[in-house]
Amino acid sequence: MMTKVFTAVTPAILMIALSVGLAPDVRAALENTQNSAASNGPASASEDAWCSELRDQIAALNWNTQGKSLEPCAGIQWKMGGKSVQGRPLVYAEFGDPDSTNVTLIFSAIHGDEVTPIYLGFKVARWAMENQANLKNARVVIAPFVNPDGFYRKPRTRMNANGVDVNRNFDTHDWKDRAIAAWTKRLRSDPRRFPGKAAASEPETRFQEDLIQKYHPKKILAIHSPLNHLDYDGPNILSLARFPRYYVRDCLALRSKLKAVSTGYFPGSLGNYAGQEMGIPTLTLELPTANPAKAEQYWRSFSAGIRTMIEFVIPDHDKKSS
Ligand SMILES: [Zn+2]
Repeated sequence: MMTKVFTAVTPAILMIALSVGLAPDVRAALENTQNSAASNGPASASEDAWCSELRDQIAALNWNTQGKSLEPCAGIQWKMGGKSVQGRPLVYAEFGDPDSTNVTLIFSAIHGDEVTPIYLGFKVARWAMENQANLKNARVVIAPFVNPDGFYRKPRTRMNANGVDVNRNFDTHDWKDRAIAAWTKRLRSDPRRFPGKAAASEPETRFQEDLIQKYHPKKILAIHSPLNHLDYDGPNILSLARFPRYYVRDCLALRSKLKAVSTGYFPGSLGNYAGQEMGIPTLTLELPTANPAKAEQYWRSFSAGIRTMIEFVIPDHDKKSS
């Protein structure tokens, strides 16, 4: 099964893909970004500038030397799902069978100072682009660079340009009552984990919410570092009043197959928003370190699990409540 998925695309298909580049709507959006560049400070001035800015960082991180390779643009049709606080494009791309309801949504670089997830996010996108003819009954939507402003800031920051942790800013039911309280008490007002002044106040958070609403993913994967575990949020045996038994069983089968654990969640986090409240099995891959020299090693270690997740089929279900 795995070997089949990894069958290389033919040179002809690859050539067509390479000649396509960014989709027109992204190009227009990127050009619009150029107009506001002077006041907001984003470096992206065009398709080429967006790619070359990223390539410069990739070169600085030594991600194209000693067995590592990362090309963020050629052949991938990035679409724009919003703009960051500083006006940078928030991009995503779709791969695989467009008619399949077996949709997996993947986010990476949610925290700008976690650099290894960026490598994996773009690697998954390239792998999916090159293998999409073999992605039977699977559709993958990838947003590999959720927090570009935090990444480009010197020094890099976990938060976005407004100083908000965009993984504490989701519009969950408990946000108003619990997000600020949890931040001040449990996190002692750690500025690195500030949930924002209001739920979904940040464009980087709304971008993720919009992709969830648009694609109705059956599974979500968020790639972080450096906590070194795989966390599961989603239906469990406590959810049987809300979801059919077969649905909960299959969600938990995915958890077991990936050897994920459930460690709790924060108000306003993706795991709370998508996993707990919407009942979408949501996996958080915490890579062991943020050391860029280990990025290729992590890709080799975790790519099979990511493919397993993409191929795993979760059945449709009728939610009784949300
Ligand atoms: Zn993180």
